[in-house]
Amino acid sequence: MAHLRFKALDLANNRSKIKVESQGKISDYFASDVFGLKQMQELLSPDVFKKVKKAIDEGLKIDDDTADAVASAAKSWAISKGATHFTHWFQPLTGSTAEKHDTFFDAHAGIEKFKGTALVQQEPDASSFPNGGIRSTFEARGYTAWDPSSPMFIYGVTLCIPTVFVAYTGEALDNKAPLLKAVEAVDKAATQVCQLFDKKVTRVKASLGCEQEYFVIDKALFASRPDLVMAGRTVFGHNPARGQQLDDHYFGSIPPRIYDFMKDFETSALKLGIPVSTRHNEVAPSQFEVAPVFEDINVATDHNQLLMDVMSKVAERHRLKVLFHEKPFAGLNGSGKHNNWSLITNTGVNLFQPSSSARENLLFLTFLVTTIKAVHDNAELLRASIASAGNDHRLGANEAPPAIMSVFLGSQLNSVLDELEKNGNIKVEKGDNMYMKLGIDKIPPIILDNTDRNRTSPFAFTGNKFEFRAVGSTDNPATPMTILNAIVADQLNDFYSAVQKEMKKGTDKRLAIVGVLRKYIKDSKNVRFEGDGYSEEWVKEAKKRGLANVKDTPRALDAYLSEKSRKLFAKLNILNEIELEARNEIQWENYIMKVQIESRVMGDLVQNHIIPTAVAYQNKLIQNAKGLKEVGVNNKQVVSTIESISKHIEILHTEIENMTEERKRINKIEDTRKKAIAYCDDVKGKYFEKIRYSVDKLELVVDDEDWPLVKYREMLFLR
Ligand code: ADP
Ligand code: MG
Repeated sequence: MAHLRFKALDLANNRSKIKVESQGKISDYFASDVFGLKQMQELLSPDVFKKVKKAIDEGLKIDDDTADAVASAAKSWAISKGATHFTHWFQPLTGSTAEKHDTFFDAHAGIEKFKGTALVQQEPDASSFPNGGIRSTFEARGYTAWDPSSPMFIYGVTLCIPTVFVAYTGEALDNKAPLLKAVEAVDKAATQVCQLFDKKVTRVKASLGCEQEYFVIDKALFASRPDLVMAGRTVFGHNPARGQQLDDHYFGSIPPRIYDFMKDFETSALKLGIPVSTRHNEVAPSQFEVAPVFEDINVATDHNQLLMDVMSKVAERHRLKVLFHEKPFAGLNGSGKHNNWSLITNTGVNLFQPSSSARENLLFLTFLVTTIKAVHDNAELLRASIASAGNDHRLGANEAPPAIMSVFLGSQLNSVLDELEKNGNIKVEKGDNMYMKLGIDKIPPIILDNTDRNRTSPFAFTGNKFEFRAVGSTDNPATPMTILNAIVADQLNDFYSAVQKEMKKGTDKRLAIVGVLRKYIKDSKNVRFEGDGYSEEWVKEAKKRGLANVKDTPRALDAYLSEKSRKLFAKLNILNEIELEARNEIQWENYIMKVQIESRVMGDLVQNHIIPTAVAYQNKLIQNAKGLKEVGVNNKQVVSTIESISKHIEILHTEIENMTEERKRINKIEDTRKKAIAYCDDVKGKYFEKIRYSVDKLELVVDDEDWPLVKYREMLFLR
């Protein structure tokens, strides 16, 4: 196979430049492929437009006549832009997006048609989407339903309609439906709390900005590595002499080939209305980041999923491959998808924005402290929301947030909370300046001091928003965002009731609020951590504090099914028992499949490529040693290399065989959870490191000319 490696390298090193046309001013083409409010306003009658806008703003149902009018306008617009087909675009539990295209053309009538009914609802033949046993496959009845709050767009020659995917029995079969419910719950809960401060607040929207990290390598090199093709990550590969220790890649000048690729995919993204705004090199070689400006959570989530697809497709044109895996290369940084999250009122107030007015800061503190308390009380559920086989390689590994959920605030805010906790006993008399007495008049309006950023915290306050940094780079942000908004909604409801209770006793409103906040601050203190989240000391300290540190996905997922979580989801009507159990079932299955694939790829590579190569090289050395002996030279070096190769070949033979036997045993386990745990502990845990160690050692000794797999240094330093 070595010849394949060299052929791939040859291809990769001799690519001709792909021309990327300049598109001119962004404002001239931004969202040109989107059927948004602007297009609707232009194409719909004022009456119909008003109805649609109201339905979108208030999350109402759209009636049949209005749907017909929208469908007709969308069809004409799409056809005028070259579209021939339409599809309901949805996010099944497989983790990517799904589409089934239908033509506008009605062959009987000989014209293009698109009815409101086809816009509103479709029944994809969805029997093979994972459903965790909710729908038996012989009765594969699920439907997709239009989500008017996320605009339609043209992708290729197809009008894509964002939809939710639901079983006929009502259960959600996708990632979007629960997100919409969680966003609604947080809207209600936050609005209620805001009204304690300002009656003009009638809606609160959750916002999301996703920083997306990714690796890029040449397509030929990707194709020559079966592990990358099958599992998305390299299961073998020795660290290059130069990894990321120089930190010279981070924010450095972007390699020209990648720069062309970035410009190209950004243009496509911008046309689709995805407001991509920043691009830069990340820490590891060949690692980069793209981030759009934040948007309404639902739209931001759709945009993230679409962006990943756009990037993969545009990469193809550049003969590149984007790796979204959380840890494609051992020993180098992994990739995350930092979820920047905030809550913004209809009056334009970001509830996580400190203010220069002490009075408004009580509102800010209310949301800040309530969020911390929510994270504290539901840390394990939040951890579960980012659990995946890929993210297991990242959480707790090199340069990545640990699996312990903690909150970083920065020293200024920390001392404000400490003071509030302490000053709580101080009596506030009539005529006193309460804010001064409690020490909450001192919050500066801008807490964006960059030196006070903590890049090792999984959940960091960054001046006017929280950044959930532990989310994996492949994850659909809908899942962590569903959980985050749900737990915060629940905590806000709890806060509101507690304040009401105090007020009924005759306590002044502001003092009642402060009272509850103080209690929350005390109760959630353990989750606050300002130090180095990657350090060993933190792991020990967190253990002392009683914080959970669930390192693997199969066990992390248990948090979804705890009594507390079930109650939370039921109370807020986000996921019912059947949905919860089905989702876990799917996630465990998914985990099993991922580890199984990796294990098989390892077996294949070792047996068909690594061992034969090592044996051939060993034979060469044996010939060499024999020859040396004949002329009277006894070369110890050669002999010891032969011994070392023998040792590793022996280990590989045995371990691969044992691992295969172990898989056979585990595959018979019926219970999905137990099976997932067995794959985690007894396949991945017992064998992966050991096998990799020997393969990587062989890579170091076998003649470079013979080695079958493209090496890290060859993949990672593309210009
Ligand atoms: P950094 O790498 O310093 O964390 P970036 O500029 O790369 O920052 O990304 C920050 C992300 O946070 C962007 O997507 C940005 O739009 C988003 N963001 C900024 N303000 C808010 C907010 N109030 N709510 C949600 N996201 C926000
Ligand atoms: Mg960043």
